[in-house]
Amino acid sequence: MSRNIQSSASLSSGQHNPRMSTVASSEWIDVSVPVRNGMVHWPSDPPFQIERIHDMQRGDKSNLSRVVMGAHTGTHMDAPLHFIANGKGIDEMPLDASIGQARVIEIRDTESIKPEELKQHRIRRGERLLFKTLNSLRGWQTDSFIEDFVFISKEAAHFLAQRGVALVGVDYLSVGGFKRDGPEIHLALLEAGIWVIEGLNLSQVTPGKYDLICLPIKLAQGEGAPARAVLRPIGTGRRQRK
Ligand SMILES: [Zn+2]
Repeated sequence: MSRNIQSSASLSSGQHNPRMSTVASSEWIDVSVPVRNGMVHWPSDPPFQIERIHDMQRGDKSNLSRVVMGAHTGTHMDAPLHFIANGKGIDEMPLDASIGQARVIEIRDTESIKPEELKQHRIRRGERLLFKTLNSLRGWQTDSFIEDFVFISKEAAHFLAQRGVALVGVDYLSVGGFKRDGPEIHLALLEAGIWVIEGLNLSQVTPGKYDLICLPIKLAQGEGAPARAVLRPIGTGRRQRK
């Protein structure tokens, strides 16, 4: 009995059996939001709707759903085509744009992300940056749209473009503010070849370095698409294999 308890404890901690530590699922943090009826959406975008058109509870042989949604529902990515008429679609995104090392930066400003704050973080060319703001704490607590969410100021968007980062992720539904420079902010990032993740929930994530995997649905010529995004800490001392 006590041996069983001990072995299950060591299995869950993954420390005693080196093979267990290669099972990485417990290390990954899901930073995407659940997609469901009634969830928050950008005011001018269609609401998300899912409906069982085959339902085993009604005697059907299987369950099968019809989904009606905007391409920018919940956690999603923007392609250049969103604001550039002949830009790349989401199906043309290089996979390493959103798979690889990323840095989570905590933003203290509760209004917007500004260059003055970004300059303190020594941002380098080619980085993948995810901004954790006040949005992660309050944005996903409600199904109502929050108008005064923290966004990337246009000055910061131009700063990030100049630095040549590879990817930017934000923790609410747009990189731009609500009725505040949305097109200009998107355009500054997308024209610089920066791929964009919107709608992350970073509430469970502390600032630092992570492995990122974020893969949008391969919508042919889509200007954006819903995505699943996960992070795994790097350099915490736990991962000494490799
Ligand atoms: Zn979008």
